[in-house]
Amino acid sequence: MSDAAHTARPDDSLHGVRNRRGDWQPRQPLQPAPVFVFPPRPLAFLKWLPHYLLPWNALFFSTTVVFWLWLTPSAATLKTLAPGWVLYLLARNMIAVALFYGAFELALYVRRRQGTQFKYNGRWPSEQPGKAFLFGSQTLDNVIRTFAFGLPIWTAYEVLILWCWANGWGPWTTFAAHPVWLVVLTLLIPVIHEVHFYCIHRLIHVPVLYRLVHSVHHNCVNPSPWSSLSMHPVEHVLYWSGALLHLLVPSHPLIALYQIYHAGFGAVVGHIGFDRIVVGDRAIDTHTYAHYLHHKYFEVNYADGLIPLDRLFGTFHDGSDAAQEAMNRRFFARTAQKRGAA
Ligand SMILES: [Zn+2]
Ligand SMILES: [Zn+2]
Repeated sequence: MSDAAHTARPDDSLHGVRNRRGDWQPRQPLQPAPVFVFPPRPLAFLKWLPHYLLPWNALFFSTTVVFWLWLTPSAATLKTLAPGWVLYLLARNMIAVALFYGAFELALYVRRRQGTQFKYNGRWPSEQPGKAFLFGSQTLDNVIRTFAFGLPIWTAYEVLILWCWANGWGPWTTFAAHPVWLVVLTLLIPVIHEVHFYCIHRLIHVPVLYRLVHSVHHNCVNPSPWSSLSMHPVEHVLYWSGALLHLLVPSHPLIALYQIYHAGFGAVVGHIGFDRIVVGDRAIDTHTYAHYLHHKYFEVNYADGLIPLDRLFGTFHDGSDAAQEAMNRRFFARTAQKRGAA
C-alpha cells in the first residue's frame, strides 16, 4: 500500500494510547449510553440514537428481514416438524456464520488488513497457543465449538419459535393489528438482549457454574471473532433462551428471529478484539471495549455497556486507572473476607 493511502487512514494514536506490551486502549473512558440516566439528557439521547441503530443493529435487522422473507420455509412447511427444513435452517445458518464471522477473521486476523491499529491486545491469538484449547489452537477450538454446539442450539431455538408460530401456539400478532407495539418491541430487542445476557451472565459466574460451564468461554483472554460462540453447550442454551420471551408476549416471528440473530451474529462484534474497524478513511466503532475488559479482568462489565447495570451493582470498569483501582480494592476485600471465613 502506498504512503498516501497510509496517511489517509484513521490513526489510532489520536484516539488512544499503547503500552509497552503493545496493548492499545481508548483515551476516553467508557461512557454510559445517555438512555437510562438521571436527569434525562434528551439532546445527548438524540445525538446517540443513530449510533444505536447504525451500523450494527440495522445490519442485523436487515439480515433478519432477508432471512425471513426469502430464506425461511413457508408456514405450511413449518407447521410439521420434519428433518428436511430443520436441516436446511441449520445449513443456512452455518453458511451465514461461516461467511460473516469468516469475513472478520480473514480481514483482521489472517490478512491483518489494519495490523494492530485499534487492537486492544497487542498480540495475536495464534502467538498464544494454550493447553486449555482443543488441539492447542484458540481458533480451531473456537470454530469446533461454534459449529458442533453453538449453531445446532441456535437453530433449535429458531425451529421451536417457527414451529410454534406456524401452529398458532403463543400470543402471536401482526404488524397490521399492532404496528406501534411491534415497532417498539423491535427497537427494544438490543435492550432486552442485554438485560437477559446480564442475568444469565451473572448466573454463570457463580463459582460452580463458572468452573463447569462458563470457563470454556473465558479460555479466550485475547478474544477474536471465532471466540464469540465458543461456549459450553449449557451456556449456548442459556444464551439464546431470551427468544422464549416471544412465546409469552405478543410478538411477530420476524422480531423473534431478530432477537435470535442479534444474539448470534451480534456476538462477533463483541469479540472482534478491535475498538474500530478501518474501512477506507473511516473507523467504524465496534462498541466492544466493555466486553473486552470482561475477558481481560473476568469480574467486571457483565453487561455490554448499553444498560448501566454494572454501574448500578458496582462492577463497571470504564478502562480508567480509577476503575482499575476500584476493581483491585474489591478483589482484595473479597480475598480477605474469604481468608477470614476459612
Ligand atoms: Zn465473551
Ligand atoms: Zn463471563
